Amino acid sequence: MTTQTLSPQQRIADCLKHQLCVACLQPARRGRIIRGCHERCYRATIRAAQAGKCTIEERIAQGKLLYSQPTGRKPSNAVSMELQRKKRSRS
Ligand SMILES: [Zn+2]
Repeated sequence: MTTQTLSPQQRIADCLKHQLCVACLQPARRGRIIRGCHERCYRATIRAAQAGKCTIEERIAQGKLLYSQPTGRKPSNAVSMELQRKKRSRS
């Protein structure tokens, strides 16, 4: 199901274009997106890194995690902000 043949750059470009989570390649139109991942995928990645199963650098190199925003913890990418706005206006 996952497309292992994509280069990291293609993978990220595809995910951004189709609003997919870069970690699991599932639609990421709802909920919090952290560094290109569903919050749960991001947390799983961090957990795996802490458990020594992978490293953050490795995941970034594979295109399965985006670089953190240099400006801080708030998501500053357009998709995340759009989703936050929608979520807020709906509730
Ligand atoms: Zn995900």
